[in-house]
Amino acid sequence: MKTKLLGKTPEELVAAAASCSLKPFVGRQLAEWLYVKKATSWERMTNISKESKARLQEKFDLGFSEPAGVARSSDGTVKYLFSVGEGEYVEAVMIPDEDRKTLCVSSQKGCRMGCRFCMTGRGGWHGNLDAADILNQFLSIPEAGDLTNAVFMGMGEPLDNYDSLERAISILTDEKCFGWSPKRITVSTIGVLPALRRFLDTQRCHIAVSLHNPFPDERLAFMPVQKAWPLRDVIDLLKEYDFSGQRRVSFEYTMFAGWNDSKRHADALIRLLSPLECRVNLIRFHKIPDFPYECAPDIRMEEFKNRLNNHGIVCTIRASRGEDILAACGMLAGAHSQQ
Ligand code: SF4
Repeated sequence: MKTKLLGKTPEELVAAAASCSLKPFVGRQLAEWLYVKKATSWERMTNISKESKARLQEKFDLGFSEPAGVARSSDGTVKYLFSVGEGEYVEAVMIPDEDRKTLCVSSQKGCRMGCRFCMTGRGGWHGNLDAADILNQFLSIPEAGDLTNAVFMGMGEPLDNYDSLERAISILTDEKCFGWSPKRITVSTIGVLPALRRFLDTQRCHIAVSLHNPFPDERLAFMPVQKAWPLRDVIDLLKEYDFSGQRRVSFEYTMFAGWNDSKRHADALIRLLSPLECRVNLIRFHKIPDFPYECAPDIRMEEFKNRLNNHGIVCTIRASRGEDILAACGMLAGAHSQQ
């Protein structure tokens, strides 16, 4: 199997060109075509000679693959399905909102974190995506040139696939590649503690933590990760960092009727998060088979939100997007994904 050029850094593309006895400028041209001009075919790379392309093609593939399925919502949200191996699919969701186009990206084939309310978690883990698989989600869709933001909130736990995540972010933020500011990228995690520390020490992207319940025993019943990396430790770690400037931390809180939507939960959440400078996003739960809980009623969500806001924690109820296509590709990315 040929090596993919997609996912290589500009320096690695220069080395790839050198391995075909081509000058460094060919590697630089490749980086520009792949990441700046977003060319997904050799034909479009018009300033690379036929002979140079032939030499490169002996060893390398570009590494793109077109979406295997598309589902469009009446609200403009588009879900793309990508084949990532025999019978394996991941999805990316493009969410338009006024002058923004945000891509919700998958990082793994499935997920090993096993959250009970998540269809991806129920299906288990089938492998990591490489950086090419991640960047392909950005580049092989019609909106490739118009994307303004990315959230790593699709299938998988991004911090459980650290190397691919780091490589994808470095290409997204490299001025010779996508040239995005890290402020345009949010990485979501359920709190993989060692990787979270590494991320906070070395990256400048925003972080979103899937919290869902402030009480350890209740959280553990739905989220096995609580055993290995208790939420308290995650919050204590976050409190070591400064989120008053460019980088923000937010908490995702999916609202389940009768499980985590009470005043008691809101008060415990306020105690847990204070005085961290943060935002809490309340998310409507979309029912999944064999899971006994329903979404909390709107009135409870409003009360919960107001209670947090009154105690100085910025809290919003996230608008549901693309509800009519949630299951259209035969998959549900679950509560971890942007819905
Ligand atoms: Fe994995 Fe996120 Fe689903 Fe939990 S909610 S199983 S971390 S994809």
